[in-house]
This record gives sequence, structure tokens and C-alpha cells, in this order.
Amino acid sequence: MKKVTRRQFLKVSAGTIGTAVALEAAGLGLDMAGAQERSLSMPIKKGKQVPSVCPFCSVGCGQIVMVDDSGKIIDIQGNPDSPLSEGTLCPKGAATYQLVMNEHRWTKVKYRAPGSDHWEEKTLEWAMNRVAELVKKTRDANFNEFEDVPDSKGKPVKKRVMNTYSIASLGGATIDNEWNYTHQKLMHGLGIIYVENQARI
Ligand code: SF4
Repeated sequence: MKKVTRRQFLKVSAGTIGTAVALEAAGLGLDMAGAQERSLSMPIKKGKQVPSVCPFCSVGCGQIVMVDDSGKIIDIQGNPDSPLSEGTLCPKGAATYQLVMNEHRWTKVKYRAPGSDHWEEKTLEWAMNRVAELVKKTRDANFNEFEDVPDSKGKPVKKRVMNTYSIASLGGATIDNEWNYTHQKLMHGLGIIYVENQARI
């Protein structure tokens, strides 16, 4: 059997139908006639093409978001002009359309009060105010202006630290570069030092 290089594998492992064609193009010796026929029979959705970036991870593969005349998203595909991904998307990126246009997606804030056994629906404004109030309350109650820090000989020296260990920020894979930048500015401005952004590179 023909040896597959890591580069060839990575090149063909992204995407679904496009992958089938790419496998053959990469010279892996697989008969993709059936998959090609199926891909050619699929209707191509036409609309305004808006270049975007996959929201899932920090690789940042390029996408094209197709929108109709009303601005509704009708399709999301890999962007062949992206120097990073050259039109390919991994299975997660290839499923981005289902992330956006999904009837099961929650679009309302759900809140469960401490000790409660049920969820309540709240407005986004209410939730933002609640988070802001709790951050302020927790920070005010646990702010460290000074702390004993060991010097080079291990002797404790009082130093101004202006931090709090009582709040942590846990990010997600959909937080992009710009969001991460402003987010860490906000966190560090508040004196929060436990910041995790879940970047996967
Ligand atoms: S999730 Fe997949 S498609 Fe999206 S940026 Fe990461 S590697 Fe690319």
C-alpha cells in the first residue's frame, strides 16, 4: 500500500465531500468516483459571500459565509483563498452552519438561583448586571493590596500586588484573538490573575 505522509493526511483530513475529492487528488490510490458523483449532484447554494474565520479554535481556518438577500445564513464553507487552510475545514469547522442555524440552540439566558431546583428565563441585560454585581462584591471582599513575597534570601517582604485570587476566568475555544486581548486587559485591570483561554495551539 502506498505510504501516506503526515502532510498528505492533514491535507485530506479536513472537510467531508471535498475530502473525498482531495484524497484522490493527493494520490492515495482510493477510488472516489462514487463520492465525486455525489458531490457533483449536490446543489450549490448561491448568495452573497462573506469571508469569515472559523469560530471554534485558534487555528483560525478561513470560511465563506453565504447569505441570502434577507441576510439569512444559507451555507458556510471553507475559504480557498485562506493561506492557512486553503479551503479545508476539519469536521467541527465543516459543521459551523449547524452551530448558527439550529432550532435546538438556546438563545435565551437560563438562570438557576442558589438552592433552586429549576431554571428561570432571564434577559441578557439582567444576566450581565448579575455577573457585574457578583464580580464587584467578590473583588471588594477579597482584594489584596499588599502581600508578603519572599525576597532572594527567603525573607518575607511586603509588596504591593493589587490582585484577587477569588475570581477566575475560564475561556472557550470560540474566543478569538481580539476577544482574548480585550478580555485579558479587563481581567488584569480588575486584578484577576487566574485567566485561562483554552487556546489549542
Ligand atoms: S475548529 Fe477546525 S476548521 Fe475550525 S479553526 Fe480549528 S482546525 Fe480550523
